[in-house]
Amino acid sequence: MTARTAAAAAEATVYGYPRQGRHRELKKAVEGYWKGRVTAESLAATAADLRRANWRQLADAGVHEVPTGDFSYYDHVLDTSLMVGAVPHRHRAAVDADRLDGYFAMARGTQDVAPQEMTKWFDTNYHYLVPELGPDTVFTADSGKQVAELREALALGLAGRPVLVGPVTYLLLAKPAPGVAADFEPLTLLDRLLPVYAEVIADLRAAGAEWVQLDEPALVQDRTPAELNAAARAYRDLGALTDRPKLLLASYFDRLGEALPVLAKAPVEGLALDFTGATAGNLDDLAAVGGLPGKRLVAGVVNGRNIWINDLEKSLSTLGTLLGLADRVDVAASCSLLHVPLDATAERDVDPQILRWLAFARQKTAETVTLARGLARGTGAITAELAANRADLASRAHSPITHDPAVRARAAAVTDADGRRSAPYEERTAAQRARLGLPLLPTTTIGSFPQTAELRAARADLRAGRIDAAGYDERIRTEIREVLAFQEKAGIDVLVHGEPERNDMVQYFAERLTGYLATQHGWVQSYGTRYVRPPVLAGDISRPQPMTVRWTSYAQSLTRQPVKGMLTGPVTMLAWSFVRDDQPLGDTARQVALALRDEVNDLEASGSSVIQVDEPALRETLPLRAADRAEYLAWATESFRLSTGGVRPDTQIHTHMCYAEFGDIVRAIDDLDADVISLEAARSHMQVARELAAHGYPREAGPGVYDIHSPRVPSTEEVAALLREGLKAIPADRLWVNPDCGLKTRAWPETRASLENLVAAARVVRGEL
Ligand code: GLN
Ligand code: ZN
Repeated sequence: MTARTAAAAAEATVYGYPRQGRHRELKKAVEGYWKGRVTAESLAATAADLRRANWRQLADAGVHEVPTGDFSYYDHVLDTSLMVGAVPHRHRAAVDADRLDGYFAMARGTQDVAPQEMTKWFDTNYHYLVPELGPDTVFTADSGKQVAELREALALGLAGRPVLVGPVTYLLLAKPAPGVAADFEPLTLLDRLLPVYAEVIADLRAAGAEWVQLDEPALVQDRTPAELNAAARAYRDLGALTDRPKLLLASYFDRLGEALPVLAKAPVEGLALDFTGATAGNLDDLAAVGGLPGKRLVAGVVNGRNIWINDLEKSLSTLGTLLGLADRVDVAASCSLLHVPLDATAERDVDPQILRWLAFARQKTAETVTLARGLARGTGAITAELAANRADLASRAHSPITHDPAVRARAAAVTDADGRRSAPYEERTAAQRARLGLPLLPTTTIGSFPQTAELRAARADLRAGRIDAAGYDERIRTEIREVLAFQEKAGIDVLVHGEPERNDMVQYFAERLTGYLATQHGWVQSYGTRYVRPPVLAGDISRPQPMTVRWTSYAQSLTRQPVKGMLTGPVTMLAWSFVRDDQPLGDTARQVALALRDEVNDLEASGSSVIQVDEPALRETLPLRAADRAEYLAWATESFRLSTGGVRPDTQIHTHMCYAEFGDIVRAIDDLDADVISLEAARSHMQVARELAAHGYPREAGPGVYDIHSPRVPSTEEVAALLREGLKAIPADRLWVNPDCGLKTRAWPETRASLENLVAAARVVRGEL
């Protein structure tokens, strides 16, 4: 019976593991190296220790085919650029002089040379360094890192499986190098790149790799027939190599869709597919192409992106179905475990009941091993694990934490009218104008002012018990007074309190909402040596008491000018947290929205006439596949409107988004029904303003005129020129004057000078109207 043989062979594996170590040793070593306190040798030794510790953890759990080459000092796409010799011209000399320093220069830039651009890795919160390619790019193979790391694993007696970013994904993630025509398509370089991959693969074979994994997550996105043809060609060519290792083509983050038949036909030995959550579509698609006869299927049934325990019985049933569809079925996490923290058992402050629902990298690895054992030997071999899992799932399903009747009743009673302001936009603007009495081209900021060392020290002092809550509050009030005094003196029209009390725009609220959980050690890599600890949306969300009102109303009590209340919107709260997997995202968004709605209403009641609800993540949370976007935008915009829909017509609702390229979501932005939006635009020279205008966006908008990402102070004339540019797209009675984003990462001297110039520029241009 083929099914039985297949089952007997089932093994567990993962595609990648958190890099930083238990105590974030990697961060410390790399940053120490940058500061000259750690030598290259000692950095290399720390890294080797961390790799070994990870492999040991995997091996102890029962994983014998371990990933290699997934480790990185900074970013695996940057590693790939070095592997294929795609070093931008401006970094060539540095890389040739010292490979490690050149590598970090590509990542971080130097005094004289700009770094590579960084952008989000698909729809995760990990950021990679964008390869820069052009018609004159010459690829050269350097398999050194991959081969060395493979050898380390082999030396431990483990079957190392090198993991590479696949050539198609690498090219699809790249952009035209500076000076190259913007319409240059990196994918046209495929024929030049494939021989380099062939060389690396041959080197890995020679070093002892039985399998090599090629990750092609870009193929889960909507792809043109030409792109799919390129993928077919790539794997036909690589598959045709002689004396090569077996190739495992890996996909994750979504279903493969129209790429599945292409990859299923490719002359490679294995395919890895994501079978979690919304991507279950792979199962039907796989059956439709007749399975993978003669091939190895690696089934990603354990979600590699969330922090929840798996439903083992459900996964076993999926795996059972898959047995009939491939020659051999192995079990894996759906994607690299890079996107989850290392080990849930490190959490000491999490309620023990909730802790049983959590699975980080280490626990997820154990789940894949359990599932592989269950698949190979039948459920009888994992009776105890299944029973424990069933009990944990039941405890989660029936817990008052995940099912708060009051929250559920309120969410169920929401009507369309709750998400609608009581007057249409045109009427509201008139009422707001009358109430606020602002000049044309009103000036404002996005919310935060510099998070100074003193503020961080105050928080540290509070945590360490060196000051009490009252002492901390006094320091915050002092800061608010200073921020207000500066803004009044500078002549800004709509003021902010400066957000000095907020460590982070999501965490601050997560700490104050019931149902949200903080972790102590739940670090995940955001980029390079930057790690974040996303809070966990663990249960039903409610707001025990107001979260921001006292600071905003204190600020308002100091001035007659309007002080903008400042909140983080529901979509951003979800996007930068670990979300629940036991209910639709839209349901969680609605709960968060209702809690925020109470805050918005309380701000209004306490005297706020302007309230901003930030949604910088609205664009970045867009699903990878176009077909899924309408549904997302429906709940996303509904939740925003629900949080802001309860205020009077003469209360002005602002929103803010950071990133450019809004063309495709202008409709959704309009659907938010906010009165004013501020956006990033300074670097793109008001491109955003033109996009809004081109789509007929009817509301007030403040395209940023001061690039806060750099300490550079823009001159009055520069800002005025941007405003004149903005006025070509947005009429004077709808144009606001503001920076690109919050000022928390800036220092005071440049903040002061820049905002003074911004106000001066607004005055100059007002005089020209
Ligand atoms: N109000 C926030 C701030 O000014 C907005 C930050 C953001 O958009 N990322 O810091
Ligand atoms: Zn922003």
